[in-house]
This record gives sequence, C-alpha cells and structure tokens, in this order.
Amino acid sequence: NIEKLSDLEKMAVLGHGNSCTVYKVRHKRSSSIFALKILRFDRSSTIIRQQAGREAEILKRVDSPYVVQCHAVFDSEDDLYFAMEHMERGSLHDVLLVHRILPEDVISSVARCVLNGLQYLHGKQIVHGDIKPSNLLINAEGDVKIADFGVSRVVVGKHDSYETYMGTCAYMSPERIDPERWDGNGDHGFAGDVWSLGVVVLECLVGHYPLIGRGEKPDWAALVCAISFGERLQMPKSASSRIQSFVRRCLEKDWKKRGTVVELLDHPFVTQNSFESRHGVADFVLRD
Ligand code: ADP
Ligand code: MG
Repeated sequence: NIEKLSDLEKMAVLGHGNSCTVYKVRHKRSSSIFALKILRFDRSSTIIRQQAGREAEILKRVDSPYVVQCHAVFDSEDDLYFAMEHMERGSLHDVLLVHRILPEDVISSVARCVLNGLQYLHGKQIVHGDIKPSNLLINAEGDVKIADFGVSRVVVGKHDSYETYMGTCAYMSPERIDPERWDGNGDHGFAGDVWSLGVVVLECLVGHYPLIGRGEKPDWAALVCAISFGERLQMPKSASSRIQSFVRRCLEKDWKKRGTVVELLDHPFVTQNSFESRHGVADFVLRD
C-alpha cells in the first residue's frame, strides 16, 4: 500500500515520454519496486491537465493481467504521479532495438497478450488509441501488458514534439488518419486498436516500420499516403500463411471489414502456437 509520495525513493530512470519521465522507485517500508510515471504540465495549459486527468481516471478503472497496473495516483500543483507495477524487461520497442526481428511464435505470444488486453479494455468501452511497441511492456515472467493511456494528451498537446506526433500517427488506422473514412457509427475506435496491433505484428516480423520502405524517412505526406492508400502488403516469403492471414485481417483498410478482437483471438496464428504465451516471450527476451 503506497500511502504517500514520500514513501517512494527514486532509484533510476526507466524511460522518457514527451511530457513525462518514468522512474524505477523503491517503497521504503516494504522494499517493493514500482515504476513511477511523473507527468509535468504547466499550470496555464488546461487541456493538458484535462487529458492527464483522463489518463488517471482510466488507470483507476482498469484491473487486468494484460494491462499495466496502476497502484496509486498522486497530484500536486504541477505534476501528476502514477505508481505502477514495474515491468522489468522494458518495452517491446527496447526488445526490437536489440533483436530487430522476432520469431513467429514469440510474435504470436505478444499478439495474444495484446488481444486479451484489448478485449478487456474494449469491454470497458475504453479505446486505447496508441498501441505501438513503446507502449507494450514486458515483465520478468514474459507477460506482455498494455501501458500508456495518455494518447489524447499526445495528440492535442502543444508540448508534443513532431517526432512524438509522427510516432503515434505511424500506427494509426486509415479511418483515424483520414476522418472522412469515419461514418459516425461510433465503433471505429475499437477497430483502430486492431489496425495498430497489425502494424506492430508486421514490424516484429520484418524488422522495421513496415508501411513504408526500409530506411525511408517517414514525412507526414508519405505516412498518410502509405496508411490510406498503401498497396497490398508484401510479406517476407518465409512468413507462414498463418501470420500473413492474421496481418491481413488486422490491416484491412475498411474498418467495418477488419478482424475484430474476438475473431482474432480465435485465429490460428494466435491459437496454434506450441507454447503458453508468457514463456515464449520470456525465454526469448532472457536469451540476451
Ligand atoms: P508516454 O505517455 O510519454 O509515452 P509511457 O507511459 O509510454 O509514457 O512511458 C514511457 C516509457 O517509459 C515506456 O516506453 C517504457 O520504456 C518506460 N515505462 C513506462 N512505464 C513503465 C513501467 N511500468 N515499467 C517499466 N518501464 C516503464
Ligand atoms: Mg508511450
């Protein structure tokens, strides 16, 4: 039980966001380790404050083994603090920096965890909106969990750098990048999370951001074009038909035809891999 902020002692920096820093902290009395995300916003910016408040509200409502758990939220004049479970193995982005590509069975495990997390969130009417490798965290056991509910903050915040904005857009679905494709049905947000998962899965398979050519600099126009009008995807010849079919179901441009979370949880790519989810990822990540 974390009663107050002063119960926690900073040990190291785990990561940076654009208006946040995440520290590894120790709970003094119990010696338990947590991750403390500190969001800084200037007082004049009510929008950023509102969005941060929204992230806090969402975090208080979620409790799932597939979502990074938030144990306490603290508030001060200029900062908001989230005390979260510590994910020892960092993010999928970090794993990809080391390994570049992942074997299909490991990708399958990642996909299964993310789909379980999305099923939970969508069941609570929460659209994550920012599924990408740096927001998927891995713990010592190899469980993959969804983190970071700050997307709206990222998209509207004036503090956000161009790189961050582009980083988020890269995983956005066609209907989000081009609102003309929305038809007000109200369901599109959920399908957008599935699209993002498809981009992540393909990225793990090919070893680079997959919707534009390798090493190309993704300027805004190229990105929007690739997402909205990109040609039918070329997948590596060595890729199994299962993963190819899974990716196609996720990256269906028309959100109404795209695979749903429930359908994809039952997809052979997710169901027919030889081991239990957690061990696949843990064994792989621990190998380095
Ligand atoms: P932002 O909203 O700025 O993107 P995130 O919540 O995604 O912030 O955190 C930024 C980075 O900090 C993550 O990509 C990850 O590397 C690290 N991080 C965040 N939460 C944790 C955690 N609970 N355990 C370990 N590392 C974390
Ligand atoms: Mg993030």
